[in-house]
Order: sequence, then structure tokens, then C-alpha cells
Amino acid sequence: MQDIVVIGGGPAGLSLLAALKSSPKTRHLSCTLIEGSSLQSVRDFLVEPPEEYTNRVVSLTPKSVEFMQQKVGNWDFIKQDRVRFYDNIVAYDSQDNDARIEFDATQIGAGVLAVMCENINIQSSLIGRLNELGMDDSTTILDNTKVIDITSPIHHDLDQHDLNEIDVNSGKSDLDWPIVKLSTGESIQARLLVGCDGYNSPVRKFAGIESRGWQYNTFGVVATIKMQYEDHRSIGWQRFLSTGPLAILPLSEDNATIVWSSTPWLSELLLKVNPDIFPHLINAGMTLEEVDLKYIYSMLDKDPNDFKVLDEIQWRLSKIDIKSLEENYPLPVVELIQNSRARFPLKLSHADTYVAPRVALVGDAAHTIHPLAGQGLNMGQSDVGFLVDALEKGIERGLDIGSTMVLDSYVANAWPGNHMMLGVCDKLHKVFTTDFGPVVLLRGLGIKSLNMAESVKDLMIKAISGR
Ligand SMILES: Cc1cc2nc3c(=O)[nH]c(=O)nc-3n(C[C@H](O)[C@H](O)[C@H](O)COP(=O)(O)OP(=O)(O)OC[C@H]3O[C@@H](n4cnc5c(N)ncnc54)[C@H](O)[C@@H]3O)c2cc1C
Repeated sequence: MQDIVVIGGGPAGLSLLAALKSSPKTRHLSCTLIEGSSLQSVRDFLVEPPEEYTNRVVSLTPKSVEFMQQKVGNWDFIKQDRVRFYDNIVAYDSQDNDARIEFDATQIGAGVLAVMCENINIQSSLIGRLNELGMDDSTTILDNTKVIDITSPIHHDLDQHDLNEIDVNSGKSDLDWPIVKLSTGESIQARLLVGCDGYNSPVRKFAGIESRGWQYNTFGVVATIKMQYEDHRSIGWQRFLSTGPLAILPLSEDNATIVWSSTPWLSELLLKVNPDIFPHLINAGMTLEEVDLKYIYSMLDKDPNDFKVLDEIQWRLSKIDIKSLEENYPLPVVELIQNSRARFPLKLSHADTYVAPRVALVGDAAHTIHPLAGQGLNMGQSDVGFLVDALEKGIERGLDIGSTMVLDSYVANAWPGNHMMLGVCDKLHKVFTTDFGPVVLLRGLGIKSLNMAESVKDLMIKAISGR
């Protein structure tokens, strides 16, 4: 029996465990985290990170960094030589080159807009922090251990409505603690079960919480790349193509990472294009007109190893004024890091609520968002903050931490902000991935006027940077 069982050792689950163990009010709780895969590479990263960047990289808002510094205490364990602060995002439209918007953090008196950091760097810093706090009997991490079933020990004949009616403070609360069955054959009973178990969340399914949303029929292709040289401009670049946005985000020295959101067909092509052609394809995607891109894609579709495409790209690039290329576009990409390409299906989903009696959902288990504004993991960090606040208050008042009386304030604080962010990113995706003339014209006008309407832009910068 445990006070809290966390399922999922991704960024959300490990953050929650470290935050609980860092808080003087919750650190006495007995907690077990269960992760289906091995966390060995995460532990190894802490001791000896690999030379090259891993391909799962996220943009962290300053608010998330502050949370890691002040509430969780893991920021000191982040490998600082592998993070890159940036202060500017330049977003532009493939269908109207003059439609550009710059989000510059200095405009709102802040030095930093966001920070690029590998997921594994975040996870390993959390393990580092947990080690520092001391892994005593009240803190257990079981990796390589899958949750195979979750059951409720009571009232199998009751429906969800009846379960909601059970008074968890009636003195019979020990009866309704969910039982988590593990692949090792063991079972754990939890006063509070927290699902940090990602999009397909078994905990969400156990609790019968509905999640609504849709697939975008789009994949995010990620890769680690090298630029021609280190760009001291500290800019994140995002170009809106009709197939989806292509972003190049800076890492340390000449390294960078890309997220190329694209149709199923294009994403497949991006993964199979010859690795020596791929960097040129990114350069083309960041600069050339849609009609040229379509021609280049069609050549590569016939033969992904067709090096003649390089002449086609070069010839088209040579028509762009060199000064404009230097000032208005990212540096040329020169290399793809071996085996760093991967694709992820993109979707929107939001759970109707994040809690049920004895259950809470955190991170992607509660919501998944299009990555165009880099918010998914950040939303999970703010969930962790709100959930720990709710549990601290519940403990102060002597309440049962599994009761909805305690958990309800978590939903009240976390859900509305997440819902707004999900809506904004969904609309941005829909407006920008169309080549329907009138919409293109309107969005061009929108971007141009937005660049002039400083107050609206400031608001957007504040949203991006989580301030
Ligand atoms: C292309 C792309 C780019 C992105 N860029 C950004 C960005 O710039 N900024 C940002 O903030 N976010 C970004 N995100 C989103 C971010 O990666 C996710 O929001 C975040 O990783 C989710 O973390 P999580 O811990 O909630 O879930 P996950 O990382 O999905 O972790 C869930 C864990 O639960 C475990 N699990 C599941 N079921 C079981 C079971 N039955 N038993 C045991 N364990 C189980 C899984 O093994 C997994 O480790 C991006 C996402 C994509 C796809």
C-alpha cells in the first residue's frame, strides 16, 4: 500500500515524484513510480551523456525553468552545456514572403524567450535530484515494469456515477484504493493513483474519464542537424508551409534540432531521403516557393537517392539575393546527425476532467497538443505545480489526499489555461496549413498587422514564454 502511485517515468511522472519529495509538506508520503520501459539510458546520461544530441528536444518556457529551479530543484542537475537559451522567434509564411513576425523577448523586458533542452536531460536531472534527496523507503522507482491492469477493490456492480458518490472521507476510504497489477506479478494499492502515462493513459481509461480531440493526419518529423557554423543570433525559425510548419531551433555551438510537421506522405519521404540530401531539403523547405518544393519532393519521391536534386535546389537558391538570405533566413544546414530522424503522429486531445475519486491525470495523459508552439511538456510542468499545491493544501487541512475534495482545486487551476492553449494552437495549425487563397491573404495581412500591433504581439510573446 502506498500513498501515491505514479504511473509513467516520462518528464511529467519524474517531475511529479521529485516535486513531491522536494516539498516539506508532501515528502513524508510513500510514493512509487512505475515505468514500463528501462530508465537505464536516463541514469547513464546523468553520469556520461552521449556526444551527439538525442532527437527528442523541447522548448522550455522560462516559467518551467523557474519551476524546476525553485519548486523541484532539478535545474542544477541539467547538463547546462547541452541547453540553449534563445530570445527571438522569426515566423514566416511560405505563400507570402513579406508576411513575417518576430517575437523578440527583449521587447517585453525579458532576456530569454525559451530554452531548448533534450527530454532525456530533463528526465536525468530529475533522477539526479531524487538521488540528492535520498531514495529511502518512501521513494521507489520500478522501471522495466509494466502496469498490466488496474482494478477497484469495491463495488464492481456500481457505475461511474455511483463511484463518484462514494464518500472517501467516511472512514471507509481504505476500501476504495485502486489496485495496480504489475508485470512482475506484484500488486500495489494506492491512496492516490496518478496517471502520467501518456496519450493512451491506462489510468484515464480505468477512471472512465472521457478524452476528446482528433488526429491531425500529420506527423512531426524530428532530427538533429548541424548548421554551417554557430549562429550567435539565438533565433528559433519557423516557416509555415502548406503541409505544416517547419521549425529549426538552436542548440549549443553549431547544433540545431528540427520539427517538420508534414502530411503522412511527406513525412515518410523525409525519413527515407538520403541522409546527405536531407540537409539541402531543409534549406529548400526554409526558403523556396511551394511550387518549387513540390517539384523537388516529386523528384525525391521517384528516387530518394537522386543527387541531381541538389543542382535543382542550388539553382533556385542562387536566385535569392545573398544579403536577404543572410539576414532573413536561418544559416544553411550542412549535416544530418546519423539515425536522428523519427516521426510522431500529431493530435489534439483533452480529458474532460483531470480527476476522479483516488485518481489524477498529469501531462500527456490529460492533454496532447500540436507542437507548433512548443507547449506540451510545459503544460505538464504546470500540471505538476498545481497538483502538488492541491495536495499540500489537503495535507495542511488534514484531508484524505485521494478525495476529490482535495483534487478538485487541481482541475480548477490547471484545466482552463490548458484548454485555452490547446484551442490557440489548434487554430494556428488550421489557419497556417491551408493554401486556400482568401485564407492565405488574410493570414498574410494578419501577420503584417500583428507585427505592427505591438501590444497584441507582446501578449503573444508572454504566452509563448509562459510569463
Ligand atoms: C515532435 C514533437 C515536438 C515537441 N516539442 C515540444 C516542445 O518544444 N515543448 C514542449 O513543451 N513539448 C513538446 N512536445 C510535447 C512533449 O514531448 C510531451 O508533452 C511530453 O514529452 C509528455 O510527457 P509525459 O511525461 O506527460 O508523457 P510521456 O513522455 O508520453 O510518458 C509517459 C510514460 O508512461 C509510460 N507508460 C505508459 N503506459 C504504461 C504502463 N501501462 N505501464 C508502465 N508505464 C507506462 C510510458 O512508457 C512513458 O514513459 C513535443 C512533442 C512532439 C511529438
